[in-house]
Amino acid sequence: MSEPVVYEGAGVAPGMAPLAGSEDLEAIYHAVVRRNPAELEFHQATREVLESLSIVVAKRPDLAQRKIIERICEPERQVIFRVVWQDDAGEVQVNRGFRVQFNSALGPYKGGLRFHPSVSLGTIKFLGFEQTFKNALTGMPIGGGKGGADFDPKGRSDDEVMRFCQSFMTELYRHLGEYRDVPAGDIGVGAREIGYLFGQYKRIANQYESGVLTGKGLGWGGSLVRKEATGYGAVFFLNEMLRARGLSLEGRRCIVSGSGNVAVYTVEKLHQLGAKVVACSDSSGYVYDEAGIELDLLKQVKEVERLRISAYAERRAGTRFVPGGNVWEVPCEIAMPSATQNELNGRDARMLVSNGCIAVAEGANMPTTPEGVRVFQEAGVAFGVGKAANAGGVATSALEMQQNASRDSWNFEYTEQRLAQIMKDIHRTVYETAEEYGAPGNYVLGANIAGFLRVAEAMEAFGLI
Ligand code: NDP
Repeated sequence: MSEPVVYEGAGVAPGMAPLAGSEDLEAIYHAVVRRNPAELEFHQATREVLESLSIVVAKRPDLAQRKIIERICEPERQVIFRVVWQDDAGEVQVNRGFRVQFNSALGPYKGGLRFHPSVSLGTIKFLGFEQTFKNALTGMPIGGGKGGADFDPKGRSDDEVMRFCQSFMTELYRHLGEYRDVPAGDIGVGAREIGYLFGQYKRIANQYESGVLTGKGLGWGGSLVRKEATGYGAVFFLNEMLRARGLSLEGRRCIVSGSGNVAVYTVEKLHQLGAKVVACSDSSGYVYDEAGIELDLLKQVKEVERLRISAYAERRAGTRFVPGGNVWEVPCEIAMPSATQNELNGRDARMLVSNGCIAVAEGANMPTTPEGVRVFQEAGVAFGVGKAANAGGVATSALEMQQNASRDSWNFEYTEQRLAQIMKDIHRTVYETAEEYGAPGNYVLGANIAGFLRVAEAMEAFGLI
């Protein structure tokens, strides 16, 4: 993958269109930039949604009258806190924790926690903003939020991770609750971290509140399919996009960036549905495996031993590790960016198009830059935007909440079937919305408009809050 980019200046990245025909939207965007200085990823995410809304403002002037768009761009609450902990050498470490409770019009705040050294308020705000519309698209009763810390779990012992999680939750717990705010995992936060976080919440709150976190272990309130859900869901969405074009996944050559939770289960489902993944990556480079990525080995290297992706190539004959390499240079028909934001730029998109790529589904949040999106759309590539394509993770989190509320646990087949149906429904909603607003096949526009309308209509019902 390309080195993720951060845009300079006012956050209008290459490839972003002017906010056509709407001075009001341009003014709203500039107010967002002024009010949230230096939060470039948040500017980028806001701009992308505003670009889709000019058409809605023209059709639904009622919605613009009571500053609904300005209200939606402003988080309901932002919490920033100090996290102090001791490493194994006894050194005191100081990190910064965040929780942005973006919008609760449709339900309790819901969205993951990210532990990565790059995390800043702008990162969490962009993710919380995206999450609000994504969660609305699932049709489930969940609002949008996101959190995390600039803590790097890489190279830390289990005990260090535990002490960090305990300190983090000691502040965060007061903002959570199964009817208030329900976090889950994201980059750097998997089953191990959710375990430590849940343990500390349970200890402080003195109650076994299963529904306060999702992504829990199967033995203590977790849901089958949650671990697989984002990757599986993204492939289900991709499959729907291909079907809408009369195509299928069978025999397709694919690239998946990253090798974390989303990437691993994207590879698994692509293989189950007859496609072949020939490359995946991490931040150190990519591996190329013409025979098709060997899933058990990938899981052993990444999930069990937590090693760098090069260990995969060291253990499997006929494969190649390309240190620092850009995974998008590998020819493929299908690309699934599943690592991080802005990992696929305009140049990468042009390379993919000229190598014969026909479809892209985003497992990660905002992995394609605005210029990359434009290149794909102009080339007629089916482009499944993250807030629709990767909504299967949070949707299955909502299924986990349902199981917790009813003290029940469902089997794998039933839960996967529910996920598959949800992804089908999201595809239909987004597809039909794009058609209704005169942009057939434009999943970015369809997702932004459909998500926005669900949130905006609920907010309207509540009056000026
Ligand atoms: P993981 O931490 O499990 O994996 C992240 C993967 O992406 C790793 O391979 C990591 O490589 C790579 N990566 C992360 N940051 C960078 C970076 N700055 N540069 C290069 N590579 C990077 O995270 P997830 O799989 O959970 O999340 C991946 C994406 O999917 C994120 O955008 C997340 O927001 C999104 N997402 C996740 C959901 C979930 O349920 N987990 C739900 C919906 C979206 P390395 O180990 O070398 O850092």
